[in-house]
Amino acid sequence: MKVAWWLVLGFVLAMSVNLPAVSANPNIAIGWNERHLKVSLSGGEVAWRSDVLHSKVLPANSEIQLQLMAPRASLGEISSQNAALWLQRSFMAHWPTRVLSMASGYNLMLLAPEPNQRLPWEAVPTYLPWLPGQQPRVLVVTFPRDETVVLRDASMVVNPGPNPVKVAKTTFRGQIVLNPNRREMLTSVNVLSMEDYLRGVVPNEMPAAWSLEALKAQALAARTYAVRQKGRHEADGFDLCSTIHCQAYGALTSEHPRSSQAVLETRGEIILHGNIVIDAVYHAHAGGQTRNSEHVWGGVTPYLKAVSIPEEPVMTWTRRITWKEFAERLSARGFRAHYPYQVAVHNLVDAGHVGSVRINSASGEAFVPAAEMRATLDRTLMRSTKFSVRELDDLLLPFSAPLYQPAFSYEVGNFAGLYHVLLPRQPSFVEFIGQGHGHGVGMSQWGAFGLARDGYNYRDIIKRFYTGVRIARMW
Ligand SMILES: [Zn+2]
Repeated sequence: MKVAWWLVLGFVLAMSVNLPAVSANPNIAIGWNERHLKVSLSGGEVAWRSDVLHSKVLPANSEIQLQLMAPRASLGEISSQNAALWLQRSFMAHWPTRVLSMASGYNLMLLAPEPNQRLPWEAVPTYLPWLPGQQPRVLVVTFPRDETVVLRDASMVVNPGPNPVKVAKTTFRGQIVLNPNRREMLTSVNVLSMEDYLRGVVPNEMPAAWSLEALKAQALAARTYAVRQKGRHEADGFDLCSTIHCQAYGALTSEHPRSSQAVLETRGEIILHGNIVIDAVYHAHAGGQTRNSEHVWGGVTPYLKAVSIPEEPVMTWTRRITWKEFAERLSARGFRAHYPYQVAVHNLVDAGHVGSVRINSASGEAFVPAAEMRATLDRTLMRSTKFSVRELDDLLLPFSAPLYQPAFSYEVGNFAGLYHVLLPRQPSFVEFIGQGHGHGVGMSQWGAFGLARDGYNYRDIIKRFYTGVRIARMW
């Protein structure tokens, strides 16, 4: 009996060789750039390195302020600290300054709160110019009791104490690292475990009030996405950003007990196709059927195949716009559609999704790709490419004027008399009626909602949307 168990264990270990070598809940770094230059933090311990490593334990409910300043000039090589402080006092009334301790003595740095701010006086030759772009900005950190530290080319690390770290109004699990960056902003990076990260993602990607099995499917999709995309923002100094560009992350402030339970109950589980971590794309609503990836992005992916989802609640959307604004938006995006008078679906791609829209105008026929039409008419209102088009008159009734009805004449030049071109009447409104929300590839979140309501578990949900996949536990 014991031997048999060892054989099973050996087999499982052999199977896992090709998978990413991760055995413990890994850390992930989530970053964003602050638009404002001041950040306040409360509690914890801060550490930074200038010549040596410094650290400071902050009392509970204390705050530190961080402000980016652009060095504009500096007076270096001041031998005594008293001389540097005396010089600083004489400048303080006019300009922010900091005294830096250097290996060769002291340095008085003149700072500018705004990147392009110029010195208010003529620079004297003794000031060494600090050229923008050549030096990063400095971070001025003010601790309680007005103690300050100036960091140049260095990060400040904030470790949580008994209380988690709070930056502005958001509370974070894990550690916060602050860096001045080359784009003259302050980059904040939250370093925390993958599972803690997911607790701050799932409630932002799916309503926490939905059933647990749907939330668990969302947790798997989000975890798989994060494992596969980790390092996407490596050039910015973190793994993933906190916006929908990667995945919406709201940190501890946004956590909900139900979504946290879904993360906990699926701990370490990711979706694999063979031994490859899948690209677990998802969208809000499929409109009854998901799509093959090649119809949306061009590349064939074996596990991103169209599947029918009759369990998805039926939802439609309407985007109605005046004919005048429709014509204006088209020309603003560069389509040659002068005096448009007719709009219709030109062709369908798959599952009722439109390939392009045909627009007849005085300039002839123009074909607008459906994705481009969404962008023209606002993606949040025009929710998908699965739609039909109607033209309406000013009573919102179907527009049915005969073409080239002489109801409108268009004046062309006045050389040797007037030429009049008869143009068709235009409708008053155009209306797009559609189903679905988003790109339609991979998991439909409303589909997960419907499947969970009908009694399917999260594994069934994942396997319905991603063809031929398996679920493996990594940690
Ligand atoms: Zn991103």
